[in-house]
Order: sequence, then C-alpha cells, then structure tokens
Amino acid sequence: MKREFKNVEYKHIPLFKDVTTDDWNNWKWQMRNAIRDIPTLEKVIKLTDEERDHLSQTLDKFKMAITPYYAALMDKENPDCPVRMMAVPQLRELYVAPSDLSDPLHEDVDSPVSGLTHRYPDRALLMVTRECSMYCRHCTRRRIVGETDTNTGKDQLQKDFEYIRNNPELRDIIISGGDPLVLSDDQIDYILTELRKIDHVEIIRIGSRMPVVLPQRITDNLCQIIKKHHPVYVNTHFNHPKEVTIEAQRACEKLADAGIQLGNQSVLLKGINDCSNIMKGLVHDLLMIRVKPYYIYQCDLSEGISHFRTTISKGIEIIENLRGHTSGMAVPTFVVDAPGGGGKIPVMPDYLISQTEKRVVLRNYEGMISSYEQPDDYHGHNREDCEFCQNEFLWAKDGVAKLLNEGGTLRPRELRREMRTNGDKG
Ligand SMILES: *Cc1c(COP(=O)(O)O)cnc(C)c1O
Ligand code: SF4
Repeated sequence: MKREFKNVEYKHIPLFKDVTTDDWNNWKWQMRNAIRDIPTLEKVIKLTDEERDHLSQTLDKFKMAITPYYAALMDKENPDCPVRMMAVPQLRELYVAPSDLSDPLHEDVDSPVSGLTHRYPDRALLMVTRECSMYCRHCTRRRIVGETDTNTGKDQLQKDFEYIRNNPELRDIIISGGDPLVLSDDQIDYILTELRKIDHVEIIRIGSRMPVVLPQRITDNLCQIIKKHHPVYVNTHFNHPKEVTIEAQRACEKLADAGIQLGNQSVLLKGINDCSNIMKGLVHDLLMIRVKPYYIYQCDLSEGISHFRTTISKGIEIIENLRGHTSGMAVPTFVVDAPGGGGKIPVMPDYLISQTEKRVVLRNYEGMISSYEQPDDYHGHNREDCEFCQNEFLWAKDGVAKLLNEGGTLRPRELRREMRTNGDKG
C-alpha cells in the first residue's frame, strides 16, 4: 500500500473558516495568529472545566503559542492526542520534581560568551533568538525560551562571531534558539554571511522545528538564501507520524531540493511516542519526505517536564525494535544528554557478547550468535606514514580517545581518596 500523507484540514474549524488560502500559506500570518489564550483555543478544541482551570493556572507561569497550522492538527475531542499534548499546557508543568534541574545540560555554565555554548572541541551552539512559532510543552530550554520574545541583538552576535573567529578549532556551528527560522530572511542571510566570512567554519547547521509546526516558513526565498552558504544542514524535530503531512513533506522536499540535507531529532515522550511501532512509523515517514532520522533524545531533567519522561530502557527497547528490522538509514542514535553538561551519550542494546584476541562473539537482531575471527597479523596503523596523523588538528585532545592514543589517567576531581592526600590542591 502506498503511503500517503494528508493535507491539514482547517476550513471546518470555526476559528479558521474564513481564512483565505493566501493567509493560511503565509508564515507571517501564521505567526501573527498563533493561539496564545484560552478563548481562542476553545474555538479549536473542546476543554473540560477542569482543563480550562488548569490551563489558566499554567499560563500564569508559562507562555503558550500554537500556530494555526499546528492547531489544526490537534484532535478536537481527545486530550491524549499527541499533537495536543505537545502544544497545550498542562497543570503538571507547574510541578517541579525533586530530580528536576533548571539548566540540566549546563548550557549557561558552558557559555563563554552570552548566547554561545561551547561544549565539544570543534563545534558550538549559537542561540540567535529565544522566540519560537510554537512553544513545545516538552521544551528542554524552557528556562529561556518564550520567557521574553527576544532575538539576539547585533552587538551580541558580533561578540559571538568574535569568539568563533578567535577559536580556530570551531569548524561546525549550530544555529539554534528558540527557533532561528522565526528571524526574517535578511537576518538569516546576515548570520550565515558573517559565519561564512570565518575561514575555519566548515559546516553550518540550523536547528528548527518550522518544518513540523509551521512548514509555510520554508519558502523559495529562504531556500535560495541558505543555498548560497553551503554546506548547510538542517536538523528538525518531528516526534510523531501525525506531524508528517503534505505541507511538512513539501517543506522538507523544498529544502532537500536546495541541496540541504535534513536530519531529525526526536525526543522520547511519555504518552506521545514511547512505542516502538509509533517510532517505526515515524522513521519510515521521515525517509519518505527525505529526512534522515539522526537522534532520539532521552527527555532531559529540565524543570516542569517530568510528566513527559520515560525510563532510559524505553529508548533501548525502541532501538532493539528498529536495528535490523528496518533500513539502517531509518535507525537514529538514541542519546542521553548527560545532566551536568556531559553532552550526548549514546545508549543501545548490547550486541557484543564476548571476545578474546582471536575471536569476537556477537549477536544480531534475530538472536543469532556468530563469531568473528580476528586477524592475527594485524599490528595496527602506522602513524609515521599517515599524513592525517601528522595533522595536529585531527588528534583527540580529551577523553578516553586521548588515553588510547597517548596513555595516561583520567581522574575524577571529587575522589575522597584524593582529597585526603591533596588537601584542597585539586
Ligand atoms: C547537541 C549539541 C551539539 C551537537 O552535537 P552533535 O552530536 O555534533 O550533533 C553541540 N553543542 C551542544 C552544546 C549540543 O548540545
Ligand atoms: S521549537 Fe525547540 S526551542 Fe522552541 S519550544 Fe520547541 S523544543 Fe523548545
């Protein structure tokens, strides 16, 4: 059976019945008419008295914005609709679980200049705005996103560019936010142009949820602008097959046709996509619209999103159900973004059963157990003759890779054993 995506129907929704097709397809109209209050929301979905009361309490603390396009995807009757759960605030957002942290990923701590997170050796995250067209209820950056709708000013951006210019190891810049594509085409062109002036910036990535929540934003003009600054990659954020519509497909195809490779970063969310078969449906849909599943994130420990969290085991189960059972192209990497700024840690089922120097015993997805005979005349790679090994820039300067390459020890700073002997020298 051929997979067919659907157009989003909106004419039957009272709030949108008189909207012209031109307005509907205009991203600025969509942004201006985002649903931000309860009376407007009630023209799209049914709320019980209790839901209305909860919603109004939550709105005192957190912002709501739902683009008309995304709102039209919501189930009018069913509060468990996945799209609705991602868009409509719930009282549980006000609950701060004991394990919650306001900045679990230490994005502020690892920020040498305001708006820029430099965690990994060769790449950095540049926040160009705090605004989004739709505020996801599960947003990990809710401490900053939507609090004040502000774009990073040119003065600040100049400081960020300056930092990037002064750090030649930064070869990959991720433009993030908020949603960078809320900026005008001119602003986006300015940022890309400035980054491209820095010789050591090799690739640029844009992280945006627009293809999902406001696909009308992906205009021909935007694609033309991005295209001038290649190689540029776009990572987006689909979480459920219901989000894959004809409009979303058109947006992704437009980007792909401009030579922009698309990746997807899902978040594993309780009651939304914590199901191997929903995820399988999603990754198949994504490949159909030319998006490569890149990551599935374990839900972070950000404040007010504990009701969305699953166990980590759920993510492992999903990968077990994908790997081998479907196209390798469809299988993302499941990652836990380590609390405390440790970065992304990949987690997956164990495929390695045992090993000696002679053999490695492995299991496949079917449970078949095989042994691989290791070569006995393998003496490793000759670094002296390797032109890449002569390139200082390519050597790992941290971590376990550095220990493998150079030997040495990695020592936790907080060992009681060390404190006893070193006093507070550490
Ligand atoms: C996720 C992330 C990146 C990019 O990580 P990749 O694994 O290269 O996609 C870079 N910086 C920060 C702070 C991040 O959170
Ligand atoms: S689009 Fe991204 S930054 Fe904006 S609310 Fe959603 S998850 Fe947060």
